[in-house]
Amino acid sequence: MVLIFIDHSGSEIKKSSYEALSYGAALAKKLGTSAEALLPGTVEDDLAALGNYGISKVHQLAKETLNNLDAQVYAKAIAEAATSLQADVIVFSHNQTGKAVAPRVAARLKAGLVAGAVALPDTSNGFVVKKSVFSGKAFANVNITTAIKVISLNPNSFPVKKTDGLATVEQLNIAVDAPKVKIAAIDKVKGEVPLTEAEIVVSGGRGLKGPENWKIVEDLAHVLHAATACSRPVADAGWRPHHEHVGQTGIQISPNLYIAIGISGAIQHLAGVNRSKTIVVINKDPEAPFFKAADYGIVGDAFDVVPKLTEEIKKLKG
Ligand code: FAD
Repeated sequence: MVLIFIDHSGSEIKKSSYEALSYGAALAKKLGTSAEALLPGTVEDDLAALGNYGISKVHQLAKETLNNLDAQVYAKAIAEAATSLQADVIVFSHNQTGKAVAPRVAARLKAGLVAGAVALPDTSNGFVVKKSVFSGKAFANVNITTAIKVISLNPNSFPVKKTDGLATVEQLNIAVDAPKVKIAAIDKVKGEVPLTEAEIVVSGGRGLKGPENWKIVEDLAHVLHAATACSRPVADAGWRPHHEHVGQTGIQISPNLYIAIGISGAIQHLAGVNRSKTIVVINKDPEAPFFKAADYGIVGDAFDVVPKLTEEIKKLKG
């Protein structure tokens, strides 16, 4: 059986979980087995409707304490659930939760792990999983030889496939440890689309010259209902808050559309955004390295191009 871990915010299932469900369901089909899901904690979403993503059952560990991530508590509970359900493959999203939990689950189950898979395994000769390495610069094909296998799926690597169907929901009866981390307060950024969940991100770099010029970025983000982000020097200089910094040392994002304005495209920046489905680059230097990673590029002055783009989108949206 393929067991897919459902990641959530304490109220909503995260979008990367739908990709993991579709991947797990396709993998189960390939292996001739069933796909089931595991949800620690509680959400407001309809769990039976997860059957629309190709799974037959949702196992829920409905403990309030699991609504906040404690990687050690999660890993122990998931490993025990996987053992009692006799899962052969456990699938996670390769997001912050998956990165913290999947290796711990693999260690507990003495299972081989491929972190950051980008395709379904090739099972013609072993169980070979393709994964991205060196911040997306190359791929490695890794053969998992253990009986139990753990895979974390890179965001935006596998399309969400909706089918028809309802899953049965069953409560799991597994002892869950008390959290080892006490959460004193949760301070969420209000009134904005969270960067890690955003479908569209508009991002600004040093080419914008100063914080006083960010209105053109915000206006474009506003018409697109997008989240805003920035390069590291912009956050370091205090032009934008640090929680907007994307890249190797910042947040790693995977929106459908990433619009980079006045950002050169250094490898450390690309490491955080190269999982975006479509990348649009606006830069006045035609030699800017970002254009090599872009799907669409506009060579021009941001102060000229961006307001025009915003106006045109406004007109299109009526
Ligand atoms: P710049 O490199 O200064 O580029 C500005 C760009 O704006 C240029 O391409 C220029 O042509 C263009 N431009 C200028 N004026 C205009 C205009 N009017 N209109 C349009 N375009 C214009 N960086 C990150 O972003 N995230 C990270 O996580 C990160 N981690 C790092 C980790 C390490 C260990 C190191 C060493 C570096 C890291 N960096 C990171 C920094 C990274 O190497 C780059 O220095 C940084 O990304 C550059 O930011 P930028 O593109 O905004 O600025």
